[in-house]
Amino acid sequence: MHTTGNLVADTFHAAPEEIGLTITDAADAGPFTAIDAAPVAVDDRCPGCKHAGVLRDHVTRQLVDLPVVGFPTRLHVRVPRFTCPNDACSRRIFQASLACADDGSKLTRRVTRWILQRLAIDRMSVSATAKALGVGWQLVNKIAVQACRNLVYDSGDHLADVRILGVDEHVWKHTRRPGEPSSMVTVLVDLTPLVDGRGPARLIDMRPGRSAEVLRTWLNERDPGFREQVEVVTMDGFAGYATAVDHALPAATKVMDPFHVVHLAAEKLTGCRQRLQRETTGRRGRKDDPLYKHRRSLMTRTNYLTDRQKQRLDLLCATDDDYVALQVTWGFYQDLIAAYGHPDKSQGKKLMAGLIDTLRKGLPKGLEELAQFGRTLWRRRADILAYFDVGASNGPVEAVNGRLEHLRGIALGFRNLDHYILRSLIHSGQLRDRINAL
Ligand SMILES: [Zn+2]
Repeated sequence: MHTTGNLVADTFHAAPEEIGLTITDAADAGPFTAIDAAPVAVDDRCPGCKHAGVLRDHVTRQLVDLPVVGFPTRLHVRVPRFTCPNDACSRRIFQASLACADDGSKLTRRVTRWILQRLAIDRMSVSATAKALGVGWQLVNKIAVQACRNLVYDSGDHLADVRILGVDEHVWKHTRRPGEPSSMVTVLVDLTPLVDGRGPARLIDMRPGRSAEVLRTWLNERDPGFREQVEVVTMDGFAGYATAVDHALPAATKVMDPFHVVHLAAEKLTGCRQRLQRETTGRRGRKDDPLYKHRRSLMTRTNYLTDRQKQRLDLLCATDDDYVALQVTWGFYQDLIAAYGHPDKSQGKKLMAGLIDTLRKGLPKGLEELAQFGRTLWRRRADILAYFDVGASNGPVEAVNGRLEHLRGIALGFRNLDHYILRSLIHSGQLRDRINAL
């Protein structure tokens, strides 16, 4: 049994100006501490036209507030309702806004802050936080994700210097069970501090889904000022992202990230090897097959191959005409990596342009994978070559993704994508300091 009265009053006296309420009554209502209250000051202006309203009646607005000595609290606030006297205004009836809570919110603002601090600083779980407040898990999770996003978007300076935006996709696997679907997430990262040498890349947000629509919606939700300041968007090979940037940020330079270009080339090389394997043996690779044995050396950059590996590869290609396609594809793969690795970026760009042109001119039969790769390069050539001018790489996005992978590893129990996003945002480092300072 807990008694209210003084205890409740003490809690409220701790921050009366913040909460802006006077207590009219308090009662122990079973699992909750119920507090009747009224606003100290009432703003009677109509939200539509700012005319002073005419008092109509009162309603009781229920709000979740901070727990009082471990018990969930409900505020029952007597809120005046007004009619708007202005005939030209579309609002007829309106409820007075409260200083302590956003219109329509079920929670006071200080509860939202409390939730974020428990999750980020005290590492409390969403369920423990929800239990302390006497509300549902879903509500706490939803409120916390929104509050994190507000910290990112509404704090003025947080997005003020984003000139180089990284967009990447990330697979969120929420189960170890085979056959269950995994979800794609679009990850937005600020690469500006990294490129400027001021600090690490910052995770800005993650949005469910991977489509042109997801990115376009996100970009269009930002203020025009943000869209004007973004000069470069780095991305993977997914055409949808390029389309979204063309729509929403027509002046920005698109950069297709080297990591993804090389990754794509490696896929083609593997595809070629597997096809030749099937064609020459009629089955998949086994450990003693020459093609299978060399699968790793094939992917290694020439400078890193040991002499022994080099000899073996030369031998592999020299001994059998069947492997010419592999040799040619492998050669392109190596040239591609050399272009990216060139210490002089303008020389690297020339090498890359040369490669794209060569593939464009057409290839003999039997080089399907390389021809397909050449078409992709040609289609995205502007974005691929832009890398050499801008020097922004999604490498850091990959690094952020690496951290997310780690988080996913410890959080396979997360069955809810929003919860996963919440944890990713809260633990991305940049937000922790802001939450601390709330
Ligand atoms: Zn009005």
